[in-house]
Amino acid sequence: MNTYDLVIRNALVYTMDGVNRVIRGGTVAVQGDRIAWIGQELPESARAAQEIDADGMVLFPGFIDTHIHIFQSFLKGLGADHRLIEWLNLSALPYGEVMTPHQHKLAAQLACMEALKSGCTSMCEFFYTNQDPELAHACIEGMQSTGIRSVFIRTFQDTGTEYGMPSIFIEPADKAMREVEALKRRFHEDDMLSIWTGPDVTWSTTKEGYQTMLEYCRSENVRYSMHLKETEVDNEMCFRCYGKDIVDLLEEIGFLTDRMLAVHCVNLTPEDIRRFAEYGVTISHNPAPNLYLGSGIPPIPESLRAGVNVALGTDGAASNNSTDMLETMKLAALIQKGLHRDASVITADQVIRMATCGGARAIGMEDRLGTLEVGKKADMILFDPRHLKSCPNHDAEATVVYASSEENIDTTIVNGKIVYHKGTFAGGLNEADLVREVALEVEKMKIREKDH
Ligand SMILES: [Zn+2]
Repeated sequence: MNTYDLVIRNALVYTMDGVNRVIRGGTVAVQGDRIAWIGQELPESARAAQEIDADGMVLFPGFIDTHIHIFQSFLKGLGADHRLIEWLNLSALPYGEVMTPHQHKLAAQLACMEALKSGCTSMCEFFYTNQDPELAHACIEGMQSTGIRSVFIRTFQDTGTEYGMPSIFIEPADKAMREVEALKRRFHEDDMLSIWTGPDVTWSTTKEGYQTMLEYCRSENVRYSMHLKETEVDNEMCFRCYGKDIVDLLEEIGFLTDRMLAVHCVNLTPEDIRRFAEYGVTISHNPAPNLYLGSGIPPIPESLRAGVNVALGTDGAASNNSTDMLETMKLAALIQKGLHRDASVITADQVIRMATCGGARAIGMEDRLGTLEVGKKADMILFDPRHLKSCPNHDAEATVVYASSEENIDTTIVNGKIVYHKGTFAGGLNEADLVREVALEVEKMKIREKDH
């Protein structure tokens, strides 16, 4: 007789597997951290320690947010309506200098709880406020306290003061790699936490810095991410720094690999796309900040057609104003339809695949995440369409992408554990308490910035 830890019954199950299997009145049984059984009716003899009757609800794989700067959750709306470089100097850079470890931990809880509440089960934090190692520790602890699956990307800058990068953030690349190692020693890496690295801003990294990082990543088998071709100014600055196009430089030094996650990619050329496909580079597409900062719209349909893996990201809340993957999916679909004047240029199914299987491949976990299949990790969400905005639900994929909000997310399960259910978070975390505490800390942060 099988006894499962958790059984979800009567769901409309979207497996997102290779053959797009959809199961009506489906049952998913979880044993430990993995999916142990999927089908219509469990054998009579099976028992469950915990059961959820999901009648009327849809079960999807959890969404994977492949790019965020968590501390920016304290900065929503700051620098609004300014171009990227001005916005950086009004928002992300000055406040990044003064926030405390406690504020980083709260920001992590704020971002991750919002993410879990909008159906996100894994998050890739792109961390660059490296002036004090305690800040990174607090951020990781904050992420872990929410139960979200975490990728922590400890980035570095080894130049760039002449372009406005505060000197407090700058360090030699070899020192940065030692800090990455220190994080790996301090925190136990497993399927719930991975530690990566990466250059933060293209023009704030020297060619030698890229090479030092790459050698480290090769020898230790570490994955890496970087912002790439976000704006035209970015491209110009790279030409000034390296005397050539940044993708040419990266190819020359062997940086383009299937361990690389390239964020934004607004100004990719057809030749860049061809090389991304050839080397297996993943694009993290972040539509909200690309629109908010007026950066532009990346060639996503073209990249998909060329066979490039595309995942989705929210980016920091200072350039998005939320950490909401449902909103991100809608934007990812709509901006391409409008740009190409073709409603068929990207589909709801493709967008959900970017948020699930695409994200899983982006973080090197496609064998464990991204679809609902026996043996995979139990990262999944129950989507309840019975709300005004999403009623009627003719087509669940279209409903999720075009007519949803966080009120539709009934339950979020990560690694077999229920971390969010009907407005309540696991681990004693309480939304109202957190909102109150964040408001108090934001006032203290503003005073510190003024005194700075
Ligand atoms: Zn970013």
